Amino acid sequence: MSVFYKGLSLTAVFCAAALFFSSCGVDLNGSEKRSKQIFAMDTIVELTVYGKNAEQAIESAAAKITELEAELSATKADSAVSKINSALGADVTVSDNVKAPLLAALDISSKSKGAFDITVFPFVKAWGFVSKEYRVPGKDELSRLQDFVGFKKIEINGNAVSVPNGTEIDLGGIAKGYTSQCVCDILKESGVTGAVISLGGNAQTVGGKPDGSKWRIAVCDPDDPDNGTIGSLAVDETAVVTSGGYQRFFESGGKKYHHIINPSTGYPSESGLKSVTVVCADGTYADGLSTALFVLGLDDALAYRKSHGGFDAVFVSDDGTITITSGLKGLFTPAQGRQFSLYED
Ligand code: ADP
Ligand code: MG
Repeated sequence: MSVFYKGLSLTAVFCAAALFFSSCGVDLNGSEKRSKQIFAMDTIVELTVYGKNAEQAIESAAAKITELEAELSATKADSAVSKINSALGADVTVSDNVKAPLLAALDISSKSKGAFDITVFPFVKAWGFVSKEYRVPGKDELSRLQDFVGFKKIEINGNAVSVPNGTEIDLGGIAKGYTSQCVCDILKESGVTGAVISLGGNAQTVGGKPDGSKWRIAVCDPDDPDNGTIGSLAVDETAVVTSGGYQRFFESGGKKYHHIINPSTGYPSESGLKSVTVVCADGTYADGLSTALFVLGLDDALAYRKSHGGFDAVFVSDDGTITITSGLKGLFTPAQGRQFSLYED
């Protein structure tokens, strides 16, 4: 069996949860620039900040990431999420740090008719994505687990949250986006002139680059994620988040099984897409939506956008076709030799 993780170098794995790099300098336009890399939320987090308060801002941002990871992780025994999961149906009082991504997750769940569902955790565990003991569960096992899955089982009253005994939540599909949104809010309040944060497949920007040009965010080639891109996006202040089957998967019996689960079957989603990149002003929604649209597939994703709006997207279908939505017209530059079609609505 082979196992693959996107974006994790050996250095990062060995330096889990520890700071391993930071740098500073003054860029060509005289603006103060600070960069910092940390390992958090199972991925490498890179922060680059421009402006007078860059150093202080970057330290506040790093502290927020540590605080959020401690509350939102489904695998740390003392996190708020783990407390909800092990409360045997009792109420657990959570902070706004937990309530906000929960409410956003539920909103995306109901709009996507359950394609996004944070109660998929029993399935995620059954496939070995938590223990890293990867396995293909039997149909009977998945259908038994199905009884515990369903976002409508989550109850939120004020800051009290409960799920029935056996139901477990996992914010893995939205926590990084919520974190990048919180970090960007902190950086903005600190008065930085520009910043970019990247957490695995999530990127979010604040303000502008010192030279006034747009931020350029590469979109990974799902067939060559370590070295290739399908193109790049020129953006101002926004979040750009990619979800794809190539990001975390194992192979067994010649078949690939990835970590994005179709909540209605318990199997890795097979919707005809290799990846979805969402461009959305709000980082939390960008992340939740990229997972949701990946499960929905191209047609239903475009229908979701028509009904609810608020974002643009780049889709890579199983046959390699690239489709972009109308708001990205003129902002997406394909890599050499790649073609794309524009979905005009
Ligand atoms: P990334 O691994 O880059 O965060 P995603 O944002 O797409 O990728 O989130 C995938 C994670 O979300 C999985 O590892 C799992 O924890 C959780 N998840 C899997 N399937 C779903 C789903 N249908 N709805 C909500 N969360 C999911
Ligand atoms: Mg996501």
